[in-house]
Amino acid sequence: DEIGELASTIDILSSKLDEASRESEMLQKQRQDFITNISHELRTPVTVIRGSLEALCDGIIKDPEKINDYYKQMLNDSKSLERLVNDLLELSRLQNADFKIDMAEINLCDVLKDAIRSASNIAQTKNIKIEYHHNKDVFLINGDYGLRQMFIIIIDNAVKFSYESSKIYIDLKGQSKSIRDEGIGISKENLPYIFDRYYRVKSIENKSGTGLGLTIAKQIALRHNINLSVVSKQGVGTTFEFYIK
Ligand code: ADP
Repeated sequence: DEIGELASTIDILSSKLDEASRESEMLQKQRQDFITNISHELRTPVTVIRGSLEALCDGIIKDPEKINDYYKQMLNDSKSLERLVNDLLELSRLQNADFKIDMAEINLCDVLKDAIRSASNIAQTKNIKIEYHHNKDVFLINGDYGLRQMFIIIIDNAVKFSYESSKIYIDLKGQSKSIRDEGIGISKENLPYIFDRYYRVKSIENKSGTGLGLTIAKQIALRHNINLSVVSKQGVGTTFEFYIK
């Protein structure tokens, strides 16, 4: 009857409210974690730079070689601070719903070639060959030059996590475009989190990572209506796939 119907509607409403409140709590928690993480990531290099500067100002360090080491360390720390701040600004720009990108017809082949060129220096230092497979020189899609950044992030990671003298394959031929490496791979436990903010594996290969790269890449993909996914096997390699809708 009507009362029964009303009661069940109220039940549905109440469970929806519960769900919304749980979601809002989760978002609040994510925001808090984010701020704690940023503060920590920013504080560490600042503390190190300050400590070094104090030691230099007080004249405690006299050996010119040591002084030089301090300068180099401070330069490295300021570079990583700069990287982090730039990544944060980029992410906040991309996540701002009011920020619209100017879409125009661009040639994906040019964007990819440009990204490969930018990664090739580090690739060379590890004797890694980037193979680019394509069956046409023009592949027009709607986008902006931010796409180049998305590819650079993924190719840079492929180089970073690949062994010396291995290969990276970039495939523009099939329906789904891909970037594949023969590197260390990602474990099953870690795979679901690699697009999350700050998620990163700290290792010798990854001293300078901010853990924001793939989060930025995912945002760029979303903005371009590209489905970005990953398949990986530890010890075998990783493939990032782009499905352009
Ligand atoms: P980072 O700044 O650490 O590279 P990213 O967001 O770009 O941060 O990547 C997050 C993590 O995902 C990396 O720390 C690494 O553990 C893993 N990862 C990303 N790309 C690859 C890859 N091609 N091979 C192996 N691991 C990868």
